[in-house]
Amino acid sequence: MTTTTIFTNAKLADGSLRNITVEHGRITAIETAASSTPPGAASPPSIDLSGDLLLPGFVEGHIHLDTSFYGGKWVPHRPCTNGFDVHERVAFQAENMAKAEPMAERARNQLDLCISKGTTQMRSHVMVDGSVGLKSLETILAVREEYQDMIDIQLVAFPQSGILKSPGTPELLDEAIGLGADLVGGLDPASFDRDVNGHLDVVFGVAEKHGVDIDIHLHDAGSMGAFTIEEICDRTVALGMQGHVAVSHAYGLGDLAPDAAKKIAARIARSSVSIMTNAPGNHNFPPVALLRREGVTVFSGSDNIRDSWWPYGDGDMLHRAEIIGYRSGFYTDVELAAAFDIVTAAGAKALRLEGYGIEVGAKADFVSLAAGHVPEAVIAFPTRHKVFKQGRLVAENGRVTR
Ligand SMILES: [Zn+2]
Repeated sequence: MTTTTIFTNAKLADGSLRNITVEHGRITAIETAASSTPPGAASPPSIDLSGDLLLPGFVEGHIHLDTSFYGGKWVPHRPCTNGFDVHERVAFQAENMAKAEPMAERARNQLDLCISKGTTQMRSHVMVDGSVGLKSLETILAVREEYQDMIDIQLVAFPQSGILKSPGTPELLDEAIGLGADLVGGLDPASFDRDVNGHLDVVFGVAEKHGVDIDIHLHDAGSMGAFTIEEICDRTVALGMQGHVAVSHAYGLGDLAPDAAKKIAARIARSSVSIMTNAPGNHNFPPVALLRREGVTVFSGSDNIRDSWWPYGDGDMLHRAEIIGYRSGFYTDVELAAAFDIVTAAGAKALRLEGYGIEVGAKADFVSLAAGHVPEAVIAFPTRHKVFKQGRLVAENGRVTR
């Protein structure tokens, strides 16, 4: 079996036309497209990318593979009775899940969607709590194995029903890591469990015991959200976990006055805590440009795709970059490139991915598409021509190949 392939006429983000040699799933050479195999030399198989823009596979940094209805029947959104309420949404979700198609089927639908759009790396939260135990995780672990040649997936043990409010959850989070979850999650320590220290004791305790990273859902607004982030930063530094902790949503950062936001951003940067935003709907969301200026790693994800939380989401990380840019008022090429960075290199940094990017030594995870350059890729919803995972074609023209 041949293990070397040359991808010819790839236009890189800097505008140069290159031939990329891939051996055993890794990039081993990047040469000008003019350079060719010497006459007489045996030439390995090649794939002509015809001048398409070639970008690294996108990083879907926050999704829920267990709770989407994507690909199944349409489930109309049910509004909260008195404004957004996490408890009520969790209850609606439990009712919907009881009637939904098999979880593995729904997870595969979502994975096919994401891969077809060019995602090659993913972090998914999976419910682990007193209501579902470890059942969802077991299902998603099996699906991850099915897809291991198509996409790399990190799984977060996510206590959707709280930790202290849902009996048995601390033990289940511990068991979840033993079972194969890669990270431990959390959920609104103040407003959900009403005990910031008690909640974080469990999350950081499990992380410390197993040596795993942390990714906490934090919807809490204003100063309550900011206070919780400060507590997370302090614990991160105290345990030497800089670079290993993420806060997802962090809506509260979007409620702060610029001075206060700048101050806490510097603290987040010092703690190397990453912030995930999907620039959602009518919520305030973190000030992306300010955070990046202060040195915070900001990454992104689809979060919910057609689930009990909202009807939106298409698994397209370029579209997500566009939403972030649009809502952040990004207009210049530099700003659009920042939106792109959030769904690629910054995501790879937050997820601590090994071998990411289009460079010698990196995994050959890339997507070829119909755009002239990165800013156009962000705003134009370009057709994804081909998606490659470790040099192997996994999707073409919007469909996964099997
Ligand atoms: Zn989420």
